[in-house]
Amino acid sequence: MENINYKWKHIIKLLETNGYEAYLVGGAVRDIIMKKQPDDADITTNATPDQIKDVFSEYTTIDTGIKHGTVTVVYNKEPYEITTYRTEKGYSDGRHPDNVSFTKNINEDLSRRDFTMNSIAYNPQKGFADPFCGEQDIKNHIIRCVGNPAERFTEDSLRILRALRFSSVLGFQIEEETEKAMHKCCKLLSNVSPERVYVELTKMLCGKNIRQVLMKYSDIIAAVIPEIKAMKGFNQHNFHHKYDLLGHTATVTQNISPAVHLRLAAFLHDVAKPLCMSFDENGTGHFYRHPSLGAKAADEILRRLKCDNKTREAVVTLIKLHDNPIEESERIIKRKLRTIGKDMLFDLIELQRADTSGLADEFHSRFEHFDKLEALTADILKREECFSLKDLDINGNDIIKLGYQGKKVGEILNGLLDAVIDGKAENSKAQLIEYVKNEL
Ligand code: ATP
Ligand code: MG
Repeated sequence: MENINYKWKHIIKLLETNGYEAYLVGGAVRDIIMKKQPDDADITTNATPDQIKDVFSEYTTIDTGIKHGTVTVVYNKEPYEITTYRTEKGYSDGRHPDNVSFTKNINEDLSRRDFTMNSIAYNPQKGFADPFCGEQDIKNHIIRCVGNPAERFTEDSLRILRALRFSSVLGFQIEEETEKAMHKCCKLLSNVSPERVYVELTKMLCGKNIRQVLMKYSDIIAAVIPEIKAMKGFNQHNFHHKYDLLGHTATVTQNISPAVHLRLAAFLHDVAKPLCMSFDENGTGHFYRHPSLGAKAADEILRRLKCDNKTREAVVTLIKLHDNPIEESERIIKRKLRTIGKDMLFDLIELQRADTSGLADEFHSRFEHFDKLEALTADILKREECFSLKDLDINGNDIIKLGYQGKKVGEILNGLLDAVIDGKAENSKAQLIEYVKNEL
């Protein structure tokens, strides 16, 4: 623990100097036990929100959730959430506690928390307060509810997705009783707000253990995305595939970089396959139009989950294009750069490579193709070759001077760009003017 940066120690100290108790809680304690550097620090104290604000009167404080006892203190330009010890009673809507009350007892506060690994408090002088043996569970890589799992999931069903998220991110296994209750209670997830679902789902997708989580718990995830239900056990009847659709999807998701839009695209890229399967005379399965139908389904799913527009649009484009082969030709790559841009092109190559990783082994030799595509694209970019209108050595005003106007100007510019990309014209103003006069 020598390497841990105890930035939050000062905050605990200041609360203690003023006569209060204070502990580090939540993910930061988990990280310390796992010998990792915590990236944020939540602090819990028996001081009430007003008392917290008094103690930190010389600092900037934000009333983050003052009713629930949370005040954010900005210390050394970093925000720290300080929450009064509290208990929560009655979750009649399965989302929010009906009653939050403050308590003077740290163990009471710890007992309202979701999993044993998240119900540990740490104080530099007093050490760990760990009434539910969370340290043991962390060491054994186990996710276990505090108290009766079915009751805890009925109180707040988002905890079901949190369990999956932690299993994916930390690579921990879910304890049997907790797992049983997750299956039993997952229908309650329909009560949870889409925003909260989206946060947990995307964190889950970006975890290092996502393949296993998708394979084991697709029926639970289907409680929030029913469209994925048909993937499990879906045989594609096609020689490209050695896994069922779920195994393929889980492999592709695991093998793409953990960026939200890439993981979402991988997770949903074949979501429409069960909707459009057909068989040829040999009994081989085909899935015509699955990219465009999949893009449409992903668009609906992500709108429903209140995903931001930028991410949604990137995912939809990637799914739409995922099955279009890209030739190893400069001309084709420049055209792609022109139509979808460089970031999307690299993302698309990555998705196609990951998609290949989910095929039968004999198709893995195709990885070389994607390496070549990336190298070719990088080379075109490095040489600053022309692939967009703004790269042309001529602009709209030059075309107007040649006597054209209106829509025709744009048509001519696009014609010139085609000619440059195809190697029919050189990208210099004089040559392009000649080309307009002679060829367009
Ligand atoms: P990370 O910050 O790495 O995502 P974390 O464990 O700190 O993980 P947060 O969502 O920041 O998770 O929540 C902080 C703590 O609050 C948790 O460790 C847990 O003790 C408690 N907590 C959060 N959400 C819930 C919930 N839905 N039910 C019960 N306790 C919760
Ligand atoms: Mg946290």
